[in-house]
Amino acid sequence: MTLPVARPSVAALPAYVPGARGQVDRLPPVKLSSNENPFGPLPSVVEAIEKVAGTVNRYPDMFAVELHERLAERFSVGADQVAVGGGSVAVLQHVLQAYTGAGDEVIFPWRSFEAYPILTPIAGATAVRVPLNDDATHDLEAMAAAVTDRTKIVILCSPNNPTGPSIHEDQFEAFMAAVPQRVLVVLDEAYVEFVRDTQTVDGLEALKRHPNLVLTRTFSKAYGLAGSRVGFALGSAALITPVRACVTPFSVSTVAQASALASLDATDELLERVDAIVAERPRLRDGLRDLGWNVPVSEGNFVWLPAGEQTVRIAQELAAVEPAVLVRPFAGEGIRVTVGTAQENDALLAAIRGLSAH
Ligand SMILES: *Cc1c(COP(=O)(O)O)cnc(C)c1O
Repeated sequence: MTLPVARPSVAALPAYVPGARGQVDRLPPVKLSSNENPFGPLPSVVEAIEKVAGTVNRYPDMFAVELHERLAERFSVGADQVAVGGGSVAVLQHVLQAYTGAGDEVIFPWRSFEAYPILTPIAGATAVRVPLNDDATHDLEAMAAAVTDRTKIVILCSPNNPTGPSIHEDQFEAFMAAVPQRVLVVLDEAYVEFVRDTQTVDGLEALKRHPNLVLTRTFSKAYGLAGSRVGFALGSAALITPVRACVTPFSVSTVAQASALASLDATDELLERVDAIVAERPRLRDGLRDLGWNVPVSEGNFVWLPAGEQTVRIAQELAAVEPAVLVRPFAGEGIRVTVGTAQENDALLAAIRGLSAH
């Protein structure tokens, strides 16, 4: 008996490793493993969700018309320049589906966001990883040099998850000048609201200069809607139309649409929370540096601990304290720690201080 066989590129996929979760028999953990927003949803967002709860027997607005319009208004673009999907990971998948297939190459930095090497072969394309510089920034010269006739997409991540640095405007412009316009450049700005480095490339401004550029953004991080699943891409209508054609029908639920709209209404309040997280960021980084860790500057809601071979041991020790401190280990490389509330960051620093000698 022969059973159905998946495509070889799918069978070979690396598994996505989710951030660690708590255990039933222990105190609620300090969860710094998934770059989530530590603050619960605003009352106005909960209210908006409750308001639509009684309508979920109906399909959502398939084209999320109001959300596209509100985002277009917010970013001063046309509604046809916005593609909304079930999280920006889904939107990125639709970009890859729309523009790549068998034989095409997708270049991205590495170490970077774990979804890139998963989504690329799902679309049928070949992943080309370009190592980061020693200071955890993108090696944009090497990335431009890696472009071949087969390259369809280059993904840039600013700030880079999990290492933290953002891409500077001058470096970005030099990169765009070096890359042929037939190559689609995707600038993943999942953490853009946390950026304070004024030299960072402004994706929205860059869109006006580069017709081969698409931005991806999300409600999951700064807006605190990771469980609701809404993200979006911005670009020219010509680039965005094929992406919208690939969006899974009805994949942005009624609840997701309502929570995103309510969040746009509450932007000021939500950005105050972002400010609070950003204010904690140097304290966490300095605390770790004082303990001897060479933590790169981060423009996201996370910091990077280059723990190398100690990575797994340290993550396990942190998970063993009470309450557990959950972080995101990348075996052999380092640990990403999400910036939490002041108390959560204190718990992390205390747990790191208490690590056995290494
Ligand atoms: C968290 C994250 C996303 C957003 O994912 P969603 O699907 O919108 O939750 C996208 N890109 C990067 C680099 C991220 O870290």
